Amino acid sequence: MTTPLLNPAIAAQMSNASWIRKMFEAGRELSHRVGPENVFDFSLGNPDVPPPPNTVKVLRKIADRAGEPMSVGYCSNQGLPSLRVALAKKLSHEQHALIHAEHLVVTCGAAGAITAFFRAVLEPGDEIIVPAPYFVEYTAYAGHFGGVLKPVATRKPDFQLDLDAIDAAITPKTRVILINTPNNPTGACYTQETLNALAELLARHNTNRDRPIFLVADEPYRALAYDGFVVPPILPLSPYAVVIGSFSKSLSLAGERIGYFLANPAMPDVAHLIAAVTMTTRTLGFVNAPIIGQHLVEQLLNEQVDLSIYARRRAAMAGVLVNARINFLEPQGAFYFFPEAPGGDDLAFVNALFAQNILAVPGSGFGCPGYFRLAFCVHEDIILRAADGFKRAASTFR
Ligand code: PLP
Repeated sequence: MTTPLLNPAIAAQMSNASWIRKMFEAGRELSHRVGPENVFDFSLGNPDVPPPPNTVKVLRKIADRAGEPMSVGYCSNQGLPSLRVALAKKLSHEQHALIHAEHLVVTCGAAGAITAFFRAVLEPGDEIIVPAPYFVEYTAYAGHFGGVLKPVATRKPDFQLDLDAIDAAITPKTRVILINTPNNPTGACYTQETLNALAELLARHNTNRDRPIFLVADEPYRALAYDGFVVPPILPLSPYAVVIGSFSKSLSLAGERIGYFLANPAMPDVAHLIAAVTMTTRTLGFVNAPIIGQHLVEQLLNEQVDLSIYARRRAAMAGVLVNARINFLEPQGAFYFFPEAPGGDDLAFVNALFAQNILAVPGSGFGCPGYFRLAFCVHEDIILRAADGFKRAASTFR
């Protein structure tokens, strides 16, 4: 696309629209052609499980007070003090560290937290090491500020971190190691043992460095882990650890845009980093996270969506894939499967699925060809009704 209206870099990004976007558009066209009830759309990670039952009651209470002056006005750029106090208590428990309200910034989702953090710490040319496959939006979040993503392949078939490869990828320009657990798109959760080894590696590189390497854990899916798995805490791993959290998935509030940035209280000069992220949240134009959402989250802080709904869908999807003889590793968290593409060519296989009215995203779109992503935030009935289509598509590659 060339137009004098746009910055050429943005125009280029638009031409290279993400695979998720492409599937979304192809799905719309398919839906017109065959009717929405005949489309099996596993392309989007938009949580469809209802928010906790108390959501309506709490919103009504907020609405009752909305006529009072300032009740829906600007708030502190760092977030509502009462929410930060409550969140600090919850995160102290989750992260095995003593966290106070001043160590947190409430943000416009995890996306807003990562963007504000990158704005605060990146200089042009800084590298962000990210295990692949990875959430593609990271490329744009970093690129806005001259940051360069450096994908490092994970181990197959379990998608755990390849620590030797991460070690080898670190250069004087490395600024961030960005992990995402539970992972989008693989559903992998990193074990305590893996994380400890990562921490050791990072500590070795961080000695005698002028600018430290941050360990950033993007964990919007922390609450969605199955079979009793508890995602290990991140803060004890490094003084330079940062946690990015969100209520988009845990409370199914993705449109309300509430997340947070948490920096390790043990980080030297931590107050400067928090002040900077508070400022960049303001100056990037977020100003403050939505105020109604902040009140809502404060009241729902100890609740979460009904995980058993996702667990049942995970079992249903596993059954469908086994039946179609497609190889996969059962996801330990989040709401995605990342199976091997039968025949090895992910684009060809996603096209074969499309011919069966099934929408999936090729692994190439996540920096990992040969696989494809299925989001199981859809009704169980859709998963079960897609079974024959998966079987037919897979059989054409045998
Ligand atoms: N990080 C990952 C890995 C995601 O999958 C998503 C959303 O799907 C985000 C960040 C952004 O989440 P939020 O809605 O909290 O901005």
